Amino acid sequence: MKRVLITGAAGFLGSHLCDRFINDGFHVIGMDNLITGRLKNIEHLFKLEHFEFYNHDVSKFIHVSGELDYILHFASPASPIDYLKIPIQTLKVGSLGVHNCLGLAKAKGARILIASTSEVYGDPTVHPQPEEYWGNVNPVGPRGVYDEAKRFQEAITMAYHEFHGLETRIVRIFNTYGSRMRLNDGRVLPAFIGQALRGEDLTIFGDGSQTRSFCYVDDLVEGIVRLLFSNYHLPVNMGNPDEITISQFAEEIIKLTGTNQKVVYQDLPIDDPKQRQPDITKAKEILGWKPIVERAEGLSKTYDYFKKLTKEELIQTEHNNFDKFILK
Ligand code: UDP
Repeated sequence: MKRVLITGAAGFLGSHLCDRFINDGFHVIGMDNLITGRLKNIEHLFKLEHFEFYNHDVSKFIHVSGELDYILHFASPASPIDYLKIPIQTLKVGSLGVHNCLGLAKAKGARILIASTSEVYGDPTVHPQPEEYWGNVNPVGPRGVYDEAKRFQEAITMAYHEFHGLETRIVRIFNTYGSRMRLNDGRVLPAFIGQALRGEDLTIFGDGSQTRSFCYVDDLVEGIVRLLFSNYHLPVNMGNPDEITISQFAEEIIKLTGTNQKVVYQDLPIDDPKQRQPDITKAKEILGWKPIVERAEGLSKTYDYFKKLTKEELIQTEHNNFDKFILK
């Protein structure tokens, strides 16, 4: 049985990856320090013989006993609100954390895949964004802690590949959505759906003309699995090229939820990218991958998940575990 370590296992993407690797017959070792991840996301796995979980911060030395075949490094705060609230942890997990994961991969002879992001392109001046584009990132802006950590993460991963001959894979993930996103993480989809479910107006930041392209989580997971088992070590974009404005997105959520609320406008956050759409030519050519879930279907499945949340979960606006980590 192949053994895989998934960091960020209790998070949105990490938990879906745990499910997929369990279903594919792997022994899964999950790791998370639960700052932004939640045990609820992986609760159903604890009873399984081939799932283990460690509550550990990967920016500190990682010890895993036994053999490891694969490591997927998905630990990181990943929403603008999160990295504004915990900027140092965001920088540490993308630098010290990835270094520890790479060291572990080297010691175990494991192949490692790291989660990068469309944020490496910053506020892009090239559209859509191909992997060859170097980006337009403000290192000292509020997003700099995330963007630069992820850029460093790619650089050190390439260095381990070149210098140590480590088998490495880099996925640049564009906006992705699905069940288990945190309602209060500030990202646009949980924000809008949460507002609709609570009977609040939907908050559009700026004039709503900025664009994003949203990929359903199952499509992304399939792409990640294909990349892991490919022979390609350079970064690969993954996302759904179906681009819409945030105003259109708000309309879709209003229709989906049947809310009578309206949209209200708030200030656009600093350095909020004006447009974003992945160029997925590489993923298509190298992995034979493209997203297949239409937004209407993906949104409806995602809404089913949020509808089942309890009243307490719906009104929870503060981040549960932040306080004990801040100032460390
Ligand atoms: N956004 C919005 N209202 C909200 C939350 C987000 O209009 O309540 C906007 C945000 O300014 C951005 C887009 O939606 O332009 C996507 O934001 P998100 O935080 O989901 O992701 P990112 O900016 O990292 O793509």
